Amino acid sequence: MGILDELSAWAGRAKRLYDVSKDLKNVELTESISDLRIALSDWKIKFAEIVEENLELKAEIKELEEQIAATDEFVFRDGLYYRGKPVQDKPNGPFCPHCFEDRGTVISLSNQMPDFIEIAGRFVCPKCKATFA
Ligand SMILES: [Zn+2]
Repeated sequence: MGILDELSAWAGRAKRLYDVSKDLKNVELTESISDLRIALSDWKIKFAEIVEENLELKAEIKELEEQIAATDEFVFRDGLYYRGKPVQDKPNGPFCPHCFEDRGTVISLSNQMPDFIEIAGRFVCPKCKATFA
């Protein structure tokens, strides 16, 4: 039984105590049990918020772990990034080191137009427009 279920069970018990106290016509007891029910209800809401936050944090951790794993897939060689283990039907590099190191985005470099290779280098990043020899 989860904590939320336990809190609901205790809220049910408090409700029965509340009904009994009303039959006993003891105002002080009824008010105390009423306060207890309100407190239980508040705790149930707080706990639900904690559960939701916990789920969000788990999702965030998973996303970050995936980002780290994706980063580990690449190797830096001769000033450019390449996939560590080539994957069939996927670009394997070279990838733009500026975009990769700056934002963690993997951008395949394009071949430079032949007339510009001498001036600007062999590759150009279609995203940040940086050129590489
Ligand atoms: Zn770039």
